[in-house]
Amino acid sequence: MTQTLINPTPKDYKSEVKPTWCPGCGDFGVLNAAFRGLAELKLPTDQTVVVSGIGCSSRFPHFMKTFGFHSVHGRALPVAQGLKMARPDLNVITVGGDGDFFSIGAGHLIHAALRNIDITVVVMDNEIYGLTKGQTSPTSPHGHVTKSTPYGLLASQFNPIATALSLNVSFVARGYSAKPKDLATLIQQGVQHKGFSFIHALSPCPTFYHTFDAWDAAVTPIDSSHDSHDKAKAIALALETEKQYTGIFYQEERPTMDQAAHQLVQESKSFDIAQYMQRYA
Ligand code: SF4
Ligand code: MG
Repeated sequence: MTQTLINPTPKDYKSEVKPTWCPGCGDFGVLNAAFRGLAELKLPTDQTVVVSGIGCSSRFPHFMKTFGFHSVHGRALPVAQGLKMARPDLNVITVGGDGDFFSIGAGHLIHAALRNIDITVVVMDNEIYGLTKGQTSPTSPHGHVTKSTPYGLLASQFNPIATALSLNVSFVARGYSAKPKDLATLIQQGVQHKGFSFIHALSPCPTFYHTFDAWDAAVTPIDSSHDSHDKAKAIALALETEKQYTGIFYQEERPTMDQAAHQLVQESKSFDIAQYMQRYA
């Protein structure tokens, strides 16, 4: 039976497991935003599942008092999509890092966008591999010097928001872990959106790369005059990489695969083979 929480507070979503992240890690802010966002939505903890892959940020489900699935590297999206298809009644939230979603798991992003299954994805992007001690990730900037790139990164930088928009993702937003209140609102809006929601969360890794100061200067809220149904304007904002715009870039309502599949199953129950054969004989 669903345990409905009467007036829940963020604390009601906090598990007894203490986060093992380094002091000052941006992921703390994202976790607090998730507690707050879920509390505001009054989501029942036993009807909510947080699915992750592998990486520092993928430890997330352990720290939440919901159901959780700490899966394998790059495979959080297949697990989350399968879960939502099988159990459309559940709230499914997928979390992980830039390495997990944009490198080994990048192929899954394309197909999740096409299917538009009703799940919410929060990507904690620190532009580095933190768990394995500081190698470049797809979102590291060109020229970045690390132990894995002593002469500077030769590849160019992956643009998560522009990619999500070009893949036709139906809800695209960016938040910042230093602004957990705003990020909580985006998580809330992403969960409420019917379809695949992509939330890019800037989340510094002060141990191996960014400090908050570097992103504080670049983070700029999207102007309130922005029409979030205008994809061309959303792409223009995404391509302005000197600024890190935050807020909702784009949203649209369109059919979701989980709804369509369940409708098909219902219709198939009244399927009359004799009538079908007669019509097409
Ligand atoms: Fe956070 Fe970086 Fe430490 Fe990982 S290594 S917990 S990303 S600060
Ligand atoms: Mg990372």
